[in-house]
Amino acid sequence: MSKPAPSLARGALGPRRPRTARVVRVAPMAAAPSEPLLDALLAGMPGAAWLVDLAQQQVVAANAAAATLLARPLAQLHGASAAALSASLEDLAWWDAARAGATAPLLSDTVMTTVDGRQLHVTRSIRAVALQPRPDGAASHALVTLTDRSAEQRTETEREALLSELQATLEATADGILVTDPGGKLRAFNRRFSEMWGLPLALLQKHDDVAVHAWMARSLADPEGYRQRLRTLDQATLLVASDRLTLLSGKVLERVTRPLVSAGRPQGRVWSFRDLTERLAAQERIQTLSCTDAMTGLANRVRLSEQVEAALVRSRTDGQALALLVVDLDRFRHINDSLGHETGDRVLMDVAQRIQRCLRQDDVMARLSGDQFAVLVHVADAAAAEAAARRVLNVVAQPCNLDSVQFTLTCSGGVALGPSHGRTADELLRHAEAAMRAVKLAGRANYRLHQARDQVDRRSHMTLDHAMRQALVSGRFRLHYQPQVRLADGRVVGAEALLRWRDPEMGDVPPSRFIPVAEESGFIVPIGDWVLSQAVRQAALWRAKGLAMPIAVNVSALQFQQAQFVDRVAAVLAVSGLPPALLELELTETILVHDADDALQRLHALARLGVRMSIDDFGTGYSSLAYLKRFPIGKLKIDRSFVSGLPGDESDAGIVRAILQMARALDMRVIAEGVETEAQRQFLHDAGCHEFQGYLFAPALDALSFEQRVPAGGVPDGALAAVPGPGGPGIRLVRD
Ligand code: C2E
Ligand code: MG
Ligand code: MG
Repeated sequence: MSKPAPSLARGALGPRRPRTARVVRVAPMAAAPSEPLLDALLAGMPGAAWLVDLAQQQVVAANAAAATLLARPLAQLHGASAAALSASLEDLAWWDAARAGATAPLLSDTVMTTVDGRQLHVTRSIRAVALQPRPDGAASHALVTLTDRSAEQRTETEREALLSELQATLEATADGILVTDPGGKLRAFNRRFSEMWGLPLALLQKHDDVAVHAWMARSLADPEGYRQRLRTLDQATLLVASDRLTLLSGKVLERVTRPLVSAGRPQGRVWSFRDLTERLAAQERIQTLSCTDAMTGLANRVRLSEQVEAALVRSRTDGQALALLVVDLDRFRHINDSLGHETGDRVLMDVAQRIQRCLRQDDVMARLSGDQFAVLVHVADAAAAEAAARRVLNVVAQPCNLDSVQFTLTCSGGVALGPSHGRTADELLRHAEAAMRAVKLAGRANYRLHQARDQVDRRSHMTLDHAMRQALVSGRFRLHYQPQVRLADGRVVGAEALLRWRDPEMGDVPPSRFIPVAEESGFIVPIGDWVLSQAVRQAALWRAKGLAMPIAVNVSALQFQQAQFVDRVAAVLAVSGLPPALLELELTETILVHDADDALQRLHALARLGVRMSIDDFGTGYSSLAYLKRFPIGKLKIDRSFVSGLPGDESDAGIVRAILQMARALDMRVIAEGVETEAQRQFLHDAGCHEFQGYLFAPALDALSFEQRVPAGGVPDGALAAVPGPGGPGIRLVRD
């Protein structure tokens, strides 16, 4: 702990009152006065007093006050040695000098010890008095008087203790403290005060008030304002006030001042200074963090909303519209899964920079979540908003080259205009996000302007969802089966179960309309479960009739992700008695990309059951060769969109050949879907594709039509195990 500052040293709060020496003047007596006379004389004195015969240096008379103070019987004082009664060095020297005739008066504060051991703080006076004429005119006696100062001394000691406690308290606080008198003079301060202001301690110790105040004013960013406030405080002596001072060094101090009142009167002021610099910096950091995206440094959703709200308020006065663009990267998850999260983060930062570079300076860009960004475009009508969206789509689609891996990203965007599409930031964001999601469903890599219809669509989704639930309980769903044909010999080697729904009011509702709604609402889980058990039951029935027909069932991502999915498949197979190899699950690439490790475990569990698996709509996702190798998948289904252009479209032909090549390398089978023409079939056959399905052979048929269309036959149980194939035992249709 630091030393008490000198300002609180004893002298600082006022010097002790000066004493005036009291002089005892007694007229010399003609003869030696009698003891009773002397006693009577002394008895009349207010304090303790005794008279000493200078020749003997013995007490010849004393008063009762002396006996009380010295705690001795009066009788004992008579004849006592003068030096023994007051024995300080000063006293002893006086008595010595007196013996040699030097009797200058002595008046000082001293400490006496009584016979009972008490210490007495007294003011003691010794004066020579001429009570008896001496030939040399010298004094005959000395009068010793004592004034007890013990009470005063106690007060003094207590005061000093109080002062040092106060000083220790001042030093113990983390605040800088300054105490001034009503005229502004320094009365006390602590070390922290000098440190905070960078004040040289010497200046304070000297109590150079003018220099200290000038130093403080000089250190401030606004010295005039500071002086002004001081003047106000000077005039309001009882005012408690606080304010903030900014120093030229950048430090920010909080100053609190309260009046120092004693006996109801202002005695000055106490000023305390607290260094807020770090706290303010921390607050600023928190503030920045709370509205910034830590990774990209862009605004976050909160900050964006504030900016959109502000722009909406402005648009009310200046009538200028604004646009909000929400952009989501397409299949970004796959980048994370295949290249790692660290690379994924770098890609996101790269994308953020690209987008930012193509915006105007006052546009606000934010990162809403993982791979979702938003841009607030000020002063933008529909055309300007669409132009901005196209620019963003374009820069995102520029090829990326990271760590010598080359790839191309696309993104989907949704745009909402303010205030026409929404009067709050929340509303605009919702509309822009919904428009973006609609783009995703429609095949991604595009943008879309919010349309009032979107809301109608949402309402119709709810109606459709309700109708689907009714349809399931009322048994209005049916399954149709589309034959899968082997290209080599034209034989039917499988059937894909496809869901059909005829609603009493809406008529036939195609899966492309209701499956996405069911996927969004989660109702796909019970529907998918119904399809699975229905399809497996049908396959078991056919098998019982002598038609061993492998059945392919579509499985949605959400259904696959259910914790009990594998158990459910096993249970359905067990109940029906269908050999697992006759069931094929058609999975989408999303399933593999989403939580790849979890998916891998589940796929292995299904493979252990003996179930076969294929990837539906292959080519529309991000699956790469390296990626597929990890999974126990036996078959790829080339998406219809690549088949439709065959054989004329070079790009489709190239993609189909590449898929076939890749599948050969992975030892996988390939089926092409949506084959409608003989030319397509021929191309696929020549290119080495294994199977096809499509209207060329047959659309999806009800179970009875399927049986009629497919000649009786099937796969004998023994043959299933005998023909090994990739990802599980192969199946060969053997006619009876
Ligand atoms: P998908 O699994 O790719 O099914 C193939 C779709 O192509 C079927 O449409 C089928 O009728 C149609 N198709 C077959 N041959 C041809 C052709 O030659 N030309 C054309 N243009 N189309 C052909 P559908 O039945 O409308 O099903 C559409 C999608 O709905 C399916 O695509 C599948 O993703 C989904 N879906 C159908 N049933 C189910 C189901 O039970 N569960 C799940 N999760 N999804 C299903
Ligand atoms: Mg399918
Ligand atoms: Mg498909």
